[in-house]
Amino acid sequence: MKPFDYFSPKTLAEASEVLSRYNGDAKMIAGGTDLLLKMKAGRLAPKAIVNIKRLAELRGITQLPITNNLSIGALTTLEEIKRSPLIHQHYSALASAAATMASVQIRNLATVGGNMCNAAPSADLAPILIALNAVAVINGVKGERRVALEEFFTGPGKSVLGVGELLVSVEVPKQEGKSIYIKHSPREHMDIAVVGVGVAYRGFNPLAQQAADVRIVLGAVAPTPLRAKKAEEEVMSGSLTKERIERAAKIAAEESKPIDDVRGSVWYRRKMVEVLVRRGLLGLVNSN
Ligand SMILES: Cc1cc2nc3c(=O)[nH]c(=O)nc-3n(C[C@H](O)[C@H](O)[C@H](O)COP(=O)(O)OP(=O)(O)OC[C@H]3O[C@@H](n4cnc5c(N)ncnc54)[C@H](O)[C@@H]3O)c2cc1C
Repeated sequence: MKPFDYFSPKTLAEASEVLSRYNGDAKMIAGGTDLLLKMKAGRLAPKAIVNIKRLAELRGITQLPITNNLSIGALTTLEEIKRSPLIHQHYSALASAAATMASVQIRNLATVGGNMCNAAPSADLAPILIALNAVAVINGVKGERRVALEEFFTGPGKSVLGVGELLVSVEVPKQEGKSIYIKHSPREHMDIAVVGVGVAYRGFNPLAQQAADVRIVLGAVAPTPLRAKKAEEEVMSGSLTKERIERAAKIAAEESKPIDDVRGSVWYRRKMVEVLVRRGLLGLVNSN
């Protein structure tokens, strides 16, 4: 590992100032479970490391007043998400997504902010948070801005974060419907997703058997987490019959843009998108 300067700011302003001063050559560290591996492998050699763990604004899982939205601080660990009673009660799919990730040792270090900002196409929390219509709360020298999480990712390892900006929290709207996250990986735990699928809807008309505001989000099958919008339209176009679900699952597979790699071929990943979207939709219908 190459030598680097080290900072441990106590305020957001201080953190943004250091990050801006290094003009893109400084890296923040939260849990370090992605960053340190890249540095040890020589894939990253930042001139400075900015430890963000002392920033109080990045901590905590809270229900916001007035909106009742859920705010998850960027430093919240995967284990905290897995165990939070608030998340279990209202956003159980998010808790189960965290439970599929890594090992307890890694989950105790790894943060939701790191999972988002590392911007791996396979990041497990991204599909379910996008399906839940989450918003990224970002802070920088110019103050705060909010970006829909589905617009946050711009490519593998890339996000909309500019120099000096950091992710403060992820805000999830009040859950009114149902959601599910299904991950396929060879070893289930300790392995990144070959395909991950998040599905959510906000309303369901039991008489018409029709779902509203459906969001289907695919992970690990495109350069960024991908919303399968045509599949969503198919689901919302009528009652949720087995045939419609079959059609939507096939459409989602066509919408995916996977690559061949050691974890799976294009053909296999598309097939698994179809299987998981069908399974997710059937799971939600059967839970009504
Ligand atoms: C053994 C092992 C198993 C794993 N299994 C999984 C898995 O199943 N699923 C999965 O998705 N991932 C997995 N990971 C990857 C990793 O653990 C997660 O992506 C984790 O959430 C990263 O969080 P972190 O806090 O450790 O990030 P860090 O390594 O601290 O940071 C990652 C990147 O994000 C930036 N960053 C961190 N926080 C912020 C912030 N608030 N604002 C701006 N930038 C920030 C850092 O500068 C860095 O570039 C695994 C890793 C290991 C080593």
